[in-house]
Amino acid sequence: MYDVVEESARESTYECLQCGKIVERTTHPGACSCGGSFQNRAMSLE
Ligand SMILES: [Zn+2]
Repeated sequence: MYDVVEESARESTYECLQCGKIVERTTHPGACSCGGSFQNRAMSLE
């Protein structure tokens, strides 16, 4: 019943592709304040 706990509560590191800002969020941060878009760094490390 509670098997939805996998990645939902885990923070991922996102890096802005434009300014290089690093943020840690449990969900995708969307657009950066500089107007760039964030990429999940964990994906490229795997
Ligand atoms: Zn940025």
